[in-house]
Amino acid sequence: MNNSFDVNKIRKDFPILEKKINGKPLVYFDNAATTQKPRQVIEKIQQYYTEMNSNIHRAVHTLSKTSTQEYYKVREIIKDFINAEYFEEIIFTRGTTESINMVAQTWGRANLKSGDEVIITEMEHHSNIVPWQMICEEKGAKLRIAPMTDNCELILEEYEKLLTEKTKIVSFTHISNTLGTVNPIKYMIDKAHSVGAKVLLDAAQSVQHKIIDVRALDCDFLAFSGHKIYGPTGIGVLYGKKSILEEMPPYQGGGDMILSVSFEKTEFNYLPFKYEAGTPNIAGTIGLGEALKYVQSIGLDTIDEYETKLLKHAAERLMEVEGLKILGNAKEKASVISFIFDNIHPNDLGSMIDLHGVAIRTGHHCTEPIMRKFNIPGTSRASFSFYNTIEEVDYFIESLKKVVKMLG
Ligand code: PMP
Repeated sequence: MNNSFDVNKIRKDFPILEKKINGKPLVYFDNAATTQKPRQVIEKIQQYYTEMNSNIHRAVHTLSKTSTQEYYKVREIIKDFINAEYFEEIIFTRGTTESINMVAQTWGRANLKSGDEVIITEMEHHSNIVPWQMICEEKGAKLRIAPMTDNCELILEEYEKLLTEKTKIVSFTHISNTLGTVNPIKYMIDKAHSVGAKVLLDAAQSVQHKIIDVRALDCDFLAFSGHKIYGPTGIGVLYGKKSILEEMPPYQGGGDMILSVSFEKTEFNYLPFKYEAGTPNIAGTIGLGEALKYVQSIGLDTIDEYETKLLKHAAERLMEVEGLKILGNAKEKASVISFIFDNIHPNDLGSMIDLHGVAIRTGHHCTEPIMRKFNIPGTSRASFSFYNTIEEVDYFIESLKKVVKMLG
């Protein structure tokens, strides 16, 4: 681990962590839902609005040239962050959800036909289920589900059995937002390619914890959200291999995605603009660039190592809490722990622990099929970031014990 990593120094970059909630210091363990923003990101957005606010692309005036340059720089930052080959492979979207919908509605509409199959897994977020259900229904294609064990690890033999020449695309999460399971993505991508299927990787829960190299992975598409990697909401990324993006039809029509328009015929723009109709989220994009620089300044190796320490400590100490069961005991886990009690509803637990200043998420976490599999209404989920501390974990456990005593 990077010797210069100093969590107390890092915490000073996040103004919200100074806040008191219900009179207690905030312990923010809802990082899988969204991460807090460092001062550097907040100040960059403020700087954008106070010093360079202007629409990008079309104007020749100075402000517009400045904002356009700042906006374009971010595409390069993202390209390097995920090791893409070309900047044209980076499409700005609203987030993971829009990125997946874009692939389903463009690539899917152009390539799926009756009898084809799309594979997802049993642990997907709704945003990696519903877009595929919608396009499969429209096209008469079949959605196949790769199952997992009771420990919440994918059953790879079952996944491989589903892969056939009918499989056109496989879309799965790198890390489960509910279970923390880390999937063997390289193996899964190679297996999908061996039957000629394309692969979309949902990196919403991984890009902030693990180094992602799209060229080494050889995934065809990758989706992530800015707000889960210390950037603003409303901005995200779709990576796609250039050759595939070039072939796909556009997503939305409008300004910027065209080269020329007449009432008879419209000529579409080059990549990446072909997929970016309308005025984009300029401030959000510039904020995301700053967030990625911030993460890089700490280093994902250091982040992963530190967060793994927090996760292990939390998993061990949770065992002290009477009646608690952890949902998801995969060998490879990252940053997320879900837990349940037979006799306590997660929402009651979440509200009570909030009185101690601890923010955790409760409910189905947009993964209702997982809840159905285990026949539970929801879980309580603690998820960690590099700005959390061992002391916070200990405080959380002590608070949890008190809450459980009251509710149990
Ligand atoms: N996939 C996973 C694994 C997620 O955790 C989330 C967000 N919880 C999403 C997709 C959707 O992300 P967003 O809401 O930012 O579009």
